[in-house]
Amino acid sequence: MQNTLDAIRGKKLHLSNFKIRHKVGKGSYGTVFAARHRQSGAVCAIKTINKARLRTRGAEDLVKREVDIHSQLRYRGILELYTWFEDSYNYFLVMEYAPGGELLRALRQEGPFCERRAANYSAQIAAALQYLHSKDVIHRDLKLENVLLQANGKLMLADFGLSVSLPPGTQLYDSCGTLDYRAPEALGGQGYSREIDMWALGVMTYEFLTGRLPFYSEDDAVVRERIVKADITPLPTSVSYLAREYVHSLLELDPCWRLSCNEALLDPWILEHCQRC
Ligand code: AMP
Repeated sequence: MQNTLDAIRGKKLHLSNFKIRHKVGKGSYGTVFAARHRQSGAVCAIKTINKARLRTRGAEDLVKREVDIHSQLRYRGILELYTWFEDSYNYFLVMEYAPGGELLRALRQEGPFCERRAANYSAQIAAALQYLHSKDVIHRDLKLENVLLQANGKLMLADFGLSVSLPPGTQLYDSCGTLDYRAPEALGGQGYSREIDMWALGVMTYEFLTGRLPFYSEDDAVVRERIVKADITPLPTSVSYLAREYVHSLLELDPCWRLSCNEALLDPWILEHCQRC
């Protein structure tokens, strides 16, 4: 597998080098297909991003930033970007293929998850975030659709379309990402940093345990109101005290008090369920 991947990693390729198979998903700017590299037989996923659509949305810089950031990342819990190329109409991002699909689908089919599985998933995401944050990268769009499953059931973070490089001590003020996962400081306009990813991890862990969103409402204005007050729908009484404490420490209003990746990985609930995640 290593050798076959060397035939595509960092190489300047063309669409004719690949046999395109089925469509595996669709994002805001592109469609993703499973593909096979003809020469080496390597399996991969190719995200096609239409240049005209990017232009009409004034988002031409997004792909460059996504490629710049994603190509620097090499960690088992992060989907690898092997290479990219373009033609007159599209950009093509050639990535590791995640055959298990989205974690959202697994949760809908099999959830809510038992605490052991929920803690394991939460720890895997925290470990990937630890790597990401150590590179001064914030994901900014963490949600179940952007966490994919490998063939062995392990998780991989995907979609770095909204990610940014942010040196420690600096803050961002623009608003982005899906409302249900957005941290209170990213709604209030007071500036935010890497702690927003930890809030999103709290939302996802709540979903693992309940199958529902913590601040759900059909009305976006109500969702915002609930987020800025950390008005969480109470967890069912069947959820353990340690799980509850963990989720609440991630969904902490004050980013300074919110668990960091390191703290999440050392949390008693995580340690109870994960020997080696
Ligand atoms: P994106 O445009 O990156 O948000 O991708 C849209 C959807 O395509 C995702 O939510 C996944 O369902 C699917 N997808 C993206 N990348 C991959 C991949 N490497 N392997 C399998 N499915 C993927």
